[in-house]
Amino acid sequence: MSKRRFVLLDRDGTVIVDKHYLHDPELVELLPGAVSGLRRMQDMGFGLALLTNQSGVGRGYFSENDVHAVNNRLLAMLAEQGVTIDAVYHCPHAPEEQCRCRKPEPGMMMQAAGELGFDPFDCFMVGDKLVDVQLGRNTGAVSILVRTGKGAEEESRCKGVADFVVDDLAQAAEIIASLKDKQAGRLDSPKRPQ
Ligand SMILES: [Mg+2]
Ligand SMILES: [Zn+2]
Repeated sequence: MSKRRFVLLDRDGTVIVDKHYLHDPELVELLPGAVSGLRRMQDMGFGLALLTNQSGVGRGYFSENDVHAVNNRLLAMLAEQGVTIDAVYHCPHAPEEQCRCRKPEPGMMMQAAGELGFDPFDCFMVGDKLVDVQLGRNTGAVSILVRTGKGAEEESRCKGVADFVVDDLAQAAEIIASLKDKQAGRLDSPKRPQ
């Protein structure tokens, strides 16, 4: 039985507008291209999960409950549009806590892979920052930088790290579709050693 494949996505600046330590569910705002892109990934059979660094918790700016409230609002907004997110993982730690889950550390990806049952070498990681594409690179995923959020600013730093750079999630879905069509079954990442 083949495993379900997944697209892992950053939240702020990738799926929703990055509002800098967002903790008010009322302020959740989907980015252009997010719904159509996610729906297309879903229609191709991919599971979807979010991996988000929320150091605002560790810094004392807001609580873990605030993170859940924002996530729940986002999931409800997407559900209204026919998009199902299978799981959301967040790292609540400040950088100085040196945890194993804050991107680009692999903790959240590994937890997701274990709980959702996918192969980290056979998935896509999409985000708007260097840490997102570094995470993808570190874990063997195909990494896609979106130019939404901080993506345009981060693009030059991501050279040689991101496998692909696209404008938004609609274009990310396009890339995923093209790779998927080329090779039925297991996808070989362009960066995977021979
Ligand atoms: Mg982001
Ligand atoms: Zn952490």
